Amino acid sequence: MRGTVVIIGAGQAGLTVAIALRERGWLGEIHLVGDERHAPYQRPPLSKGYLSGAEGPEELWLRTEEALAKDRVRLRKGTSVERILREEQRVVLSGGESLPYDALVIATGSVPRRLELPGGELEGIHAIRTIADADHLREDFAAAGDTVFIGGGFLNLEVAVEAARHGTATVLEVAPQILGRVLSRAAANALEEHHAASGMRIRCGASIESFVGEAGRVTGVRLADGEVLPAARVVLSIGAIARDELAADAGLETAGGIVVDERLRTGDARILAIGDCARYPNPYAGIDMRVESVQNATDQARYVADALTGKAVGPYRAVPWFWSTQGDRRLQIAGIAMPGDEARVVERTDAGKLVVERLREGRVVAVETINAPGPHMRARKALSQLVEV
Ligand SMILES: Cc1cc2nc3c(=O)[nH]c(=O)nc-3n(C[C@H](O)[C@H](O)[C@H](O)COP(=O)(O)OP(=O)(O)OC[C@H]3O[C@@H](n4cnc5c(N)ncnc54)[C@H](O)[C@@H]3O)c2cc1C
Repeated sequence: MRGTVVIIGAGQAGLTVAIALRERGWLGEIHLVGDERHAPYQRPPLSKGYLSGAEGPEELWLRTEEALAKDRVRLRKGTSVERILREEQRVVLSGGESLPYDALVIATGSVPRRLELPGGELEGIHAIRTIADADHLREDFAAAGDTVFIGGGFLNLEVAVEAARHGTATVLEVAPQILGRVLSRAAANALEEHHAASGMRIRCGASIESFVGEAGRVTGVRLADGEVLPAARVVLSIGAIARDELAADAGLETAGGIVVDERLRTGDARILAIGDCARYPNPYAGIDMRVESVQNATDQARYVADALTGKAVGPYRAVPWFWSTQGDRRLQIAGIAMPGDEARVVERTDAGKLVVERLREGRVVAVETINAPGPHMRARKALSQLVEV
């Protein structure tokens, strides 16, 4: 329980490891290195309450710097790890200083995927990942006008709800259906109908050719059929890419994420990777994958803290779950379904409640719920029995 742990990335996962190590009695040094200029914060409100102004910055902080100092966690904010020197067991920081480690946890997160199209450099094209991104978009909303969203995923739909309060919100999705990759058709349809009834415009099967602009600022989005949709701003959310370049440079295996085993270890026994950046064997999905959720970041962090403090742990098996706020609909998913998994609607009410079970080879592998917290919690419990620990 002594020795030095260096954590790269002071986000949801990195912060949780640091706290969990102290809670489990780690006595050695803990260095939490983050390249953002803030204390660790949570991202979900950035597309919800923080964006709308219903929540202030105080709702974002996961831990204050004072509380971290009290826990003897050395936070180095505004500092990036530039290199991992595995042979020497140390990392090199942006200021040139280097930190030795006994264990290294990589929790570098992910970044929004970009769309390389003509006009992509114009002002007024947004993506949300950081506080600065949300502030920037919020200021831009004040100018009202049409907002065009590229990508019909959870994040963009959350933001589109807010945009619709300031002008029109049009969501463009290249697939035949919004949320098609991550939800059953029944649940995706229910959300689509709800948003459409609230005034959001949703256009599926839309492929984008370029961004149109004037005086350096975006004014529209040109579709493949030549139609130009006017846009006072554009919000882009077409998935995220793991920040795995540091690991790759250090010779660790990466494949669209840092490859780890079922104990979240990289090929180097002293280096673990967790959260958005880690690609691990997911027993619920039956494949190696990255999972981008608060649950994944925090459960993996606690698992790693258990492992480092010598608690006997089996393979990482936490039940995946996720939530998203879609206007006044609260979507929750327990487990992980794959696009081919069967869907069975078990409850639907006119008031918007929906419960859909997803089945693989006759077994329930995930449950999607809308405004149904009870069935969601029961599903999480039931799914925890599905995969043997
Ligand atoms: C707008 C938004 C809304 C979301 N809403 C939900 C939601 O409703 N429900 C849900 O479950 N999930 C939601 N998520 C996803 C969830 O926030 C992420 O899965 C979670 O933050 C992942 O935690 P992480 O620690 O892996 O990554 P992050 O929180 O991104 O932290 C990684 C940190 O590492 C830093 N870093 C990277 N490289 C280096 C380096 N070399 N040196 C130092 N620091 C480095 C990054 O700058 C970042 O601060 C949302 C995400 C976003 C962006």
